[in-house]
Amino acid sequence: MTWWWIVAGVAVALWLLTSFRLGQLRRKHWRLELDSRLAGARVDQLQTELDALGAINRAFVEEAPAAMFLVTPQGRVRYFNSAAASLFQLVPGLDEDKGLVELVRDHDLDRLMGRVLAAATPADSIEVQPPGTNLVLQAAARSIRTARGELLGATLLLEDLTGRRRMETARRDLVANVSHELRTPLAGMKALVETLELGVDDPELAASFLGKMHGEIDRLALLVHDLLELSRIESGGIKLECQPVDLAGLAVAASERVQNEADAGGIELAVEDGEPLWVLADAHRCEQILVNLLQNALKFTAACGRVAVSWALEGGEVTVHVRDTGIGIAPEEQPRVFERFYKVDKGRAGNTGTGLGLAIVKHLATTMGGRVGVDSVPGKGSDFFFTLPLALAPERTAAAA
Ligand code: ADP
Repeated sequence: MTWWWIVAGVAVALWLLTSFRLGQLRRKHWRLELDSRLAGARVDQLQTELDALGAINRAFVEEAPAAMFLVTPQGRVRYFNSAAASLFQLVPGLDEDKGLVELVRDHDLDRLMGRVLAAATPADSIEVQPPGTNLVLQAAARSIRTARGELLGATLLLEDLTGRRRMETARRDLVANVSHELRTPLAGMKALVETLELGVDDPELAASFLGKMHGEIDRLALLVHDLLELSRIESGGIKLECQPVDLAGLAVAASERVQNEADAGGIELAVEDGEPLWVLADAHRCEQILVNLLQNALKFTAACGRVAVSWALEGGEVTVHVRDTGIGIAPEEQPRVFERFYKVDKGRAGNTGTGLGLAIVKHLATTMGGRVGVDSVPGKGSDFFFTLPLALAPERTAAAA
């Protein structure tokens, strides 16, 4: 009997021990399961954060205005962004894993990358003009290393300075041109004043000196006027009131303004019959364009020559022509006459202008949605033309409404 009680006691003790251990194990299992669920949630959260960082990174790198290349330690391109693709006409996916020089075709850039990868300098920058392009680029290369100094590759960043350099050159040219144009009348006036200071006995001579000084002052005033006008048009500082303008009326009004100059030069001035056309333009600025072209035509046409205004509907827009039988312009000079301060053969007779008139004409016409151009044959004459958008005659517009 005692033996039976001992066995029962041991069995109960074993049962209690096993249940307790089982409880312990179950709790441990729950804890582990909870931990693993928490870890899973943390992994998901980290993945989301990683995705977000990746998206931000892609947005920064891919959409950056500067061209970027990522290069392996062996100098092969692993990645380039869209700015690099459009700058060097590269195809993503196809042009990766090529040598840098193959893609950018510039040995200075390749040498820069070589220096950085060779650890001669961890970062370096140069200005380059890739051959066969008009580009000016600021290139900055930097190596990428682990904390232990192991080389992972390098980045190359290219900023397009072309527009900025062009503006700097234009500004420099403008200052040089203005100074040059100012110097000539100022030097003339200085000489005249100095001569008058020495005393000129002949009153007629003194009067002619004063007349010349007047001429130089007029030239200076014209230069300042043209410069201000051009700068106002270029900076959008003029207000255009575009409405239907009758071309025939406009041509007659502009011709009347220069009739005296035509008479003085013995030149026939004509407004040719054309179909009644209306253009969408600012009447005052349109007349300014025509007067400018007519004055030029009269200036460069000899006595007994002819200057005529005509217009025609060409390809859905109206082209206005000012044709003269004057000295003409050589083919290589023709594309340049609309540049600021450009004068064909500065020394030739009649070339007393500022060289800004046609630049003003071009800006006014383009501001009104048109174009300008010239066809000319040296010794035979020129055809300066500008286009403007066609407009319906006001009565037709009213009828349509
Ligand atoms: P400018 O005030 O000197 O006339 P423009 O800009 O009007 O300046 O003209 C630029 C240059 O183009 C002139 O200096 C002249 O050499 C040339 N040019 C303009 N119009 C004519 C023309 N009708 N015939 C020949 N040359 C012309």
